[in-house]
Amino acid sequence: MRHSRPQLCAAKMLRMNPIQFPLPQERIPRTWYNLLADLPEPMAPPLHPGTLQPIGPEDLAPLFPMALIQQEVSTQREIEIPDPVRQVYAQWRPSPLFRARRLEKALDTPAKIYYKYEGVSPAGSHKPNTAVAQAYYNKVEGTKRLATETGAGQWGSSLAMACAFFGLECKVYMVRVSYNQKPYRRALMEAFGATVAASPSTETECGRAILAEHPDTPGSLGIAISEAVEVAAKDPETKYALGSVLNHVLLHQTVIGLEAIEQMAMAGDEPDVIVGCTGGGSNFAGLAFPYLGRKIHGQSKARVVAVEPAACPSLTKGPFRYDFGDTSHLTPLVKMHTLGSTFIPPGIHAGGLRYHGMAPLVSHVLELGLIEATTVQQLDAFAAGIQFARAEGILPAPEANHAVAAAIREALAAKAEGRERTILFNLSGHGHFDMQSYIDYQAGKLENFEYPAEEIAMALAGLPSVE
Ligand SMILES: *Cc1c(COP(=O)(O)O)cnc(C)c1O
Repeated sequence: MRHSRPQLCAAKMLRMNPIQFPLPQERIPRTWYNLLADLPEPMAPPLHPGTLQPIGPEDLAPLFPMALIQQEVSTQREIEIPDPVRQVYAQWRPSPLFRARRLEKALDTPAKIYYKYEGVSPAGSHKPNTAVAQAYYNKVEGTKRLATETGAGQWGSSLAMACAFFGLECKVYMVRVSYNQKPYRRALMEAFGATVAASPSTETECGRAILAEHPDTPGSLGIAISEAVEVAAKDPETKYALGSVLNHVLLHQTVIGLEAIEQMAMAGDEPDVIVGCTGGGSNFAGLAFPYLGRKIHGQSKARVVAVEPAACPSLTKGPFRYDFGDTSHLTPLVKMHTLGSTFIPPGIHAGGLRYHGMAPLVSHVLELGLIEATTVQQLDAFAAGIQFARAEGILPAPEANHAVAAAIREALAAKAEGRERTILFNLSGHGHFDMQSYIDYQAGKLENFEYPAEEIAMALAGLPSVE
């Protein structure tokens, strides 16, 4: 075929200025990367909530299938991804890595900005990376039904989809403020066949107890987790699935970083800064942990930055202590950065970031000085998301806006210093189900929340005394 001159020029220009680094399908990772294998110091063990002694696999057996319990404590560096899981991944993986050239131009920065885009999954976020794996292992071990919590509905819709793929029933407790703010996510879960209740609900003892005390509560992830755990603990055919925080969830997300390492090599660049937003820590860990492994082995010097909302700042303001994962204290105690399990975060629109604690593994690497943490206010997050959308055409999820805002901050700092800097961030999902929050933002109805110091102090005063 013969090309006219302008077409030839365009083709040449794209080759010189590529914006996408496509990996072939056979490069979908065959193994997940387990950071536990490379930690310079081991993590503190989870403790039984009654005896305060380290728990064993049998303590978790009512809640999780054995394969996931083993992954939770495994120190094997590479863990094989089962073929049926890889087969589902192939629908949207490898996910694209883009260079944000138009955003760089808009910011007039010498920095290069790359982003890994997880919004290409059918549910619109990174969450199916673990939902599919969890549904698969449950199916293999004979589970009939999964019970879970969801904040904004990203996790609930991902698990509902995965349950539909593997023939499991799915019950979702959705944080009430999100249940009201995000009816389309609920509709999506129901379309996939899940049953959804606003949490706290009257269906569980935990829910009823909280409603009796706080009838107008907006709910929280901690409460919704209590409800789902209660249901799973009481029914031998039901198990529990968690969308973040646990080691095995972070493990499943490492496909993101493993692919990104190859794609950055295609781009001929090494990141100087890696950025991810943190609710429970899973999308951040997914991108960052494979790089942290390299950092521990002296193969990467990248700074790694976790970004959380100023209204729910567990990593930056919460002490590193043993605490419960849920409000009603049904879960084991884990050592993590926490604002206190009874803390109910303000109703920010980034529902996926409204969790009182942080993944123990992310907390641990912060303690070891391997990562940094920072915060972003709600209005700055939305302003960044809008700027990103105008430059790149993708409207991020409110959670992902926090990563966008921090990446822009890094790019502007590079400009102020007159230095180059290669930034890589995780765009964890799109915001197409979060349009009400954008409507409210554009109408000037969103506000920044002050750091809720008093409520946090109260919740922290109630921390269990272990140590
Ligand atoms: C759930 C969610 C988050 C927060 O959860 P992590 O486990 O911290 O990743 C961030 N972004 C999106 C799009 C989400 O759906």
